[in-house]
Amino acid sequence: MKLYILGCMGPYPEKDRALSSYLVETDESKVLVDCGSGALANLQKYIEIKELDGLILSHLHGDHMADVLSLRYYCASHNVRLNVYLPNEDSCEYRLIAGTPFFNIVHIQDSKTIKIKDQEITFVEMIHPKQTFGIRVTDGLVTLSYTGDTVLNPNLDILTEGADVVLADCSYPTELHTPQTPHMSLYQGAKYAENKPFKLLVTHIKPEYDITDEATQLGLECVNQGDIYTIKHNGCIKE
Ligand SMILES: [Zn+2]
Repeated sequence: MKLYILGCMGPYPEKDRALSSYLVETDESKVLVDCGSGALANLQKYIEIKELDGLILSHLHGDHMADVLSLRYYCASHNVRLNVYLPNEDSCEYRLIAGTPFFNIVHIQDSKTIKIKDQEITFVEMIHPKQTFGIRVTDGLVTLSYTGDTVLNPNLDILTEGADVVLADCSYPTELHTPQTPHMSLYQGAKYAENKPFKLLVTHIKPEYDITDEATQLGLECVNQGDIYTIKHNGCIKE
């Protein structure tokens, strides 16, 4: 299983940077997870858009789904039908996506498991201002968990059970983090991963702050746009 970091910033990009989007590639399938601005341009460095077997949206905040609005035009131009898995919510973002005739809309729910070819994907509800689902994907050999956007919560244990790698929204500088912050801090991420059998990768990098020093102090690895990880048992290797 390979994880491509197409974009990892939020909630808005720095120069030449894309927002949350990850390609999960296994032997038989290619699944796009989140689709922030810049995602489609970067995806095409690796595959053609029509090769996608599905798109999963963890939640419908703009920094995780803006490029879906352009993806509609690609699908219409190329006569491509795409399965789009997303929360069912009453919002203009939802209606824009669900009203697209080239998307097959599939609603995701807590504890729901789907199959996309050789990928078995389970959704676990997280806590964030919008309904948000973490995603656990396995190809039967290795397991990757992605938290989406969330604060620290007990469902993380369900999401990360059996994971070899956890890609987590825990890049918030600890000294600026408050109980109202809708993301996890670096310290919370590090504490959560302590003595766990998985490798933690930090994502949702904020443009305003340089977290390099704190991440290094805590022994955390932050992902970068363009990184490609091969998921292994209890860890990963960056190409
Ligand atoms: Zn969000």
